[in-house]
Amino acid sequence: MDRRGFLAGAGLVAAGGVAGSGAAMAASAGATAEGPTARTAVPPGPGAYAATVVFRAAPPTRLLALTIDDGPTRAWTPRLLAILRRHDARATFFRVGERAQAAADLVRQTADAGHEQGNHTWAHDDLTQHDEAFDRGTLERTHELLADLTGQAPALCRPPWGRIDSVGLAVCAGLRYRVALWSQHVTGSNPRGDVDGILRLGSPGSIVLAHDGGPEPNPALMTQLDRMLAAMTDRGYRFVTVSELLAAQG
Ligand SMILES: [Zn+2]
Repeated sequence: MDRRGFLAGAGLVAAGGVAGSGAAMAASAGATAEGPTARTAVPPGPGAYAATVVFRAAPPTRLLALTIDDGPTRAWTPRLLAILRRHDARATFFRVGERAQAAADLVRQTADAGHEQGNHTWAHDDLTQHDEAFDRGTLERTHELLADLTGQAPALCRPPWGRIDSVGLAVCAGLRYRVALWSQHVTGSNPRGDVDGILRLGSPGSIVLAHDGGPEPNPALMTQLDRMLAAMTDRGYRFVTVSELLAAQG
């Protein structure tokens, strides 16, 4: 990864902080020479770039993907790993860089167990509320850390809150990322109902969102994810990583 680009991005983190987070686009317009209604961003270099955004996939067989955001955390990541192991399931963990740095052993353990690591920004940043240098900095810093920890460069980004626009998409295209959103969400507030819905409506290619960090994980969520994995596996489904799911649809 381009070290100069990373350093430039880090420098502008401080500038963005001065501008403040509320109404950040309007407040930072002077610094970025961009108006509040249009954001122009192009990936670096002369190549033709595409930024593919996926909500779900369409594999020919009963495959689906469980994705786990906002960790790693000591409280929940080991529990999820144990649940996944019980069902011989693979998942994709979208990591917050600063949390990965603080719990590097959990990232390595997760990767060693065959789970994919994706990029969820350095500090759970809203990519639509910052300029291009900031977005590149937060994604590249996380990219470098995950590549260093696992020996494998991430191939996917999930923007925090699902928020992304031309600026974040340009940075993702430059990193050759696919942007992975989701088709179902098992929440911390209604995990039983959410899993019931997936058991009714889940189909091959579903991308399910859950969390091992932030406010959502709790014992009921873990119990219900365990139930979902058991029930879908009984129906002949196999849980694979998002990259495997996308590769399977050809
Ligand atoms: Zn998140």
